[in-house]
Amino acid sequence: AKSQGKGRHVVYHERMDHRTAEQSRVAADLRGALDTDQLHLLYQPIVAMPGGELFGVEALVRWTHPVRGPIGPNLFIPAAERTGLIVPLGAWILEEACRQAVSWRQTMGAAAPRTVSVNVSARQLREAGFAEEVAAVLLRTGLPPDVLTVEITETAVFDGGTALDELKSIAALGVKIALDDFGTGHSSLGLLRTCPADILKVDKSFVDDVTGGGEPAVIVAALLTISDGMRLRAVAEGVETAEQAAELHRLGYRYAQGYFYARPLPAGEIDTYRPAGLTP
Ligand code: C2E
Ligand code: CA
Ligand code: CA
Ligand code: CA
Repeated sequence: AKSQGKGRHVVYHERMDHRTAEQSRVAADLRGALDTDQLHLLYQPIVAMPGGELFGVEALVRWTHPVRGPIGPNLFIPAAERTGLIVPLGAWILEEACRQAVSWRQTMGAAAPRTVSVNVSARQLREAGFAEEVAAVLLRTGLPPDVLTVEITETAVFDGGTALDELKSIAALGVKIALDDFGTGHSSLGLLRTCPADILKVDKSFVDDVTGGGEPAVIVAALLTISDGMRLRAVAEGVETAEQAAELHRLGYRYAQGYFYARPLPAGEIDTYRPAGLTP
C-alpha cells in the first residue's frame, strides 16, 4: 500500500509539472495574442422571461491560437491572472465591449442591448486605479455609464483590501455591478450589505437542478426573494431547457441567460437575435 501511495505521489507531481509547463506556454503565447488579433469577444444574450426578448449581453472572450485553434477562457484566464497579463488583457476586453455597445446603440437604436456585461477578475479589481480606467474608457467611447455592467465574483470582492473601494468607485460612476456565480463562493450574505450590487447572477449549478424540486429549487426561490427585497435584478444563469425556463418563470424570475435562449454570438449576430423563449 505504501509503494502504491508513493507511485500515486509521483504521478501527481508529473501531472502538476505538465500542467505548469502547459500554463506557462499558454501565458507566453497569450502575450503575443493581444497584439496580433487572435482575441475576440462573443456576446451572449441576457433575456427577459418568459418571451426571451433581448435585454442585455455578456461579453465572453475567445482566443483563436494560430496552431492550437480555439482555446477557451477557462484555460487561459487563470494563466493570465497568475502572470498579471489579465490587466492589459482585461483593459482591452473592457474597451472593446464598450466600443461594441456604442456601435449597437448607433445601428440598432432602441433595440440595442440595454446593458453590456464585462467580466472583471479579482486581479484587475485589486489593481490601483481600475475605477479611473473604467471612467476613462467610458469617456473615450462615449458609452453612458449605466449601460455598462461589471461582473465580479463574491470571492473577488473579498480578495484584497482595496477591491471593495474600487467597486464603490465604479458604482459611483453609475456603472452597474453584478455578483457573478452567486452562491458558489465562500462568502456570506453579509456581502450583499457591504457591496454595491445591482444584479445577482444565480449560478448555473442551482439552475441545473431547479426542476428537481429539492434543495436547489429552494435556494433558487430564496435568492429571488432576497433579490426582490433588496431591489437587485436576479438573473438565472445557464438555462438549458424549456423545463428549467418554465420553472424559473413560475418561481418569478424575469431574466435569464443560457443555451436554451442563445449561445454566445459574434457581435454581428446580436441585431438578428430573435426570441426563442416560451410561447406566452
Ligand atoms: P461566466 O462569467 O460564468 O460565464 C458564463 C459561462 O457559461 C460562459 O462560458 C458561457 O459560454 C457559459 N454558458 C452560458 N450559458 C450556458 C448554458 O446554458 N450551458 C452551459 N453549459 N454553459 C453556458 P465561457 O465563455 O467558456 O467562459 C467561462 C468563464 O471564463 C466565465 O464564466 C468567466 O469566469 C471567464 N471569462 C470569460 N470571458 C472573460 C473575460 O472577458 N474576462 C474575464 N476576467 N473572465 C472571462
Ligand atoms: Ca460572468
Ligand atoms: Ca457566471
Ligand atoms: Ca447581423
